[in-house]
Amino acid sequence: DEMDVGTIWMDGEFVDWDDATVHVLTHGLHYGTGIFEGVRCYETDDGPAVFRWEEHLERFYQSAKPFEMEIPFEPDELTEATLELIRREELASCYIRPVAFYGYEMLGLNPSGCPVETAIAVWPWGTYLGEDALEQGVDVGISSWRKHASSQIPTNAKMTGPYANSVLASLEAKSHDYVEGIILNKEGNVAEGPGENLFVVRDGEVLTPGLAEGVLDGITRRSVIEIARDQGYTVHDDATISRGELYTADELFFTGTAAEVTPIRTVDDRTIGEGTRGPVTEDIQARFFEIVDSQPEEYADWFTLV
Ligand code: PMP
Repeated sequence: DEMDVGTIWMDGEFVDWDDATVHVLTHGLHYGTGIFEGVRCYETDDGPAVFRWEEHLERFYQSAKPFEMEIPFEPDELTEATLELIRREELASCYIRPVAFYGYEMLGLNPSGCPVETAIAVWPWGTYLGEDALEQGVDVGISSWRKHASSQIPTNAKMTGPYANSVLASLEAKSHDYVEGIILNKEGNVAEGPGENLFVVRDGEVLTPGLAEGVLDGITRRSVIEIARDQGYTVHDDATISRGELYTADELFFTGTAAEVTPIRTVDDRTIGEGTRGPVTEDIQARFFEIVDSQPEEYADWFTLV
């Protein structure tokens, strides 16, 4: 079990993996009153380097706001805890999972009396959507579950409760033998994957649904928008994309911390483009991996050395 590492940081202490437990009457367990992040740390010539740590940390604190949750640690403390965990585990590369949630005190819905518990775990994690996915692309299906509107749940926050929507879409995709789902918003326009943002390539231009469509402000999304523009592509980052436009796209790809840049080769069994990784996707993906593998000067501020 690759998550079964030696040490987890919990509420200010480094604890043995076996001891990183919570009570069954934890508020966050019952009502999804938690927030979390997912971050990757890449192997570099200068040792492990965390990709866009500052942005992830900022989103972590921002995600706490809708719940009026006060994370009882300063950003610097969470940074130091994370870097120390990676050093202790001697990981060359890894996934980082910070989480904070309302803990045990009572089970009324208003969590204001509950303590806020904070934990960080790190573990080795390879490609998310399968070994061949990065090269061959993945087969996906449109989910019958719609994304909640931002008037129902803040879609720009990584709150744990709303991830039930992503879990349902993911289960549905698997039951139809798709690798992943695509979730439409309440208007029926394209939102995102269960754990990924989505990009369309059309006539050489790159499009992705705007944040107003109810998608997460993904940090890989932001990075890919910047990379694509630096590569000379025109990027529309506030697009409204209909379901039909997916089928007729020249290329499609997912972005995400876990998924990185993953091509999509079919949607609902319709072949996208040539049914393989398209040239624009390949170009952007190659540049993405070049950047995380070699940290070129222009992107140096995207990395935090361990
Ligand atoms: N959308 C959703 C719903 C997600 O869970 C994720 C993963 N955090 C993303 C998009 C991609 O965001 P990021 O690039 O910051 O990982």
